[in-house]
Amino acid sequence: MFKTLNALVLREVRYKEADRILTLLTDTEGKITAKARGALRKSSRTAAATQQLTYAEMTLFGNRGRWTVNEAAVKEPFEGLRGDMEKLALAAYIAECAEALSVEDQPEPELMQLSLNCLYALSRELGAQEKIKAAFEARLMCLSGYAPELGACAVCGREPAEPVLNLDNGCLCCRSCGAGEKVELGPEALAALRFLKAAPAKKLLSFNLSDDALLKLGGASERYLLRRTERGFSTLEYWKQIRNYTQMGDRK
Ligand SMILES: [Zn+2]
Repeated sequence: MFKTLNALVLREVRYKEADRILTLLTDTEGKITAKARGALRKSSRTAAATQQLTYAEMTLFGNRGRWTVNEAAVKEPFEGLRGDMEKLALAAYIAECAEALSVEDQPEPELMQLSLNCLYALSRELGAQEKIKAAFEARLMCLSGYAPELGACAVCGREPAEPVLNLDNGCLCCRSCGAGEKVELGPEALAALRFLKAAPAKKLLSFNLSDDALLKLGGASERYLLRRTERGFSTLEYWKQIRNYTQMGDRK
């Protein structure tokens, strides 16, 4: 059975001489694994469209849950990511998160749109990397059923003067209210987090923060994601290393 769909290549692994095994996030089948035969040959018509972090229209042949790429044409190559180690590292983290939080064979159009929008913004430099990363992480948590409770302090019920996010239960509270592992937000980062929870997908990056508040938002969104997923991401560590290194260079 042939099926034409749109797919974002989350991961590619070399297989045998010239094949690629792809992890795809697709619009109609959700996350699937597909084999691209001969994709690593120079003459291959599917070589460009089956590269990691490419968005492509693909025609797949499916047989009892096993997919093979028959044709593939690039829709968005995210050119700006290639040749820039820092952007590529963050893009790989976005892909690793999308893979970790999606379910096999279950269409997740919002997750796909979020991943594509963030890769596009990163590729075209539509915002600081820290901003794109925090927006992605916060929204991904909301889409994955881990939306934080941000209405009022979960303990005293008031709007916190010194808001923190309780990582144990994902609830907003005052710095002095309740026990547990907390991460500081401050009013500005809290407003951004509330925005990221509710904003229309296309407006997700339409917020501005001071450097200090962005740092707090980033710290909270990252630690919350790591806590909820209960795992580490090698791509995240890699991006941090490169980012620290290049920013050290910038300061000199
Ligand atoms: Zn309180």
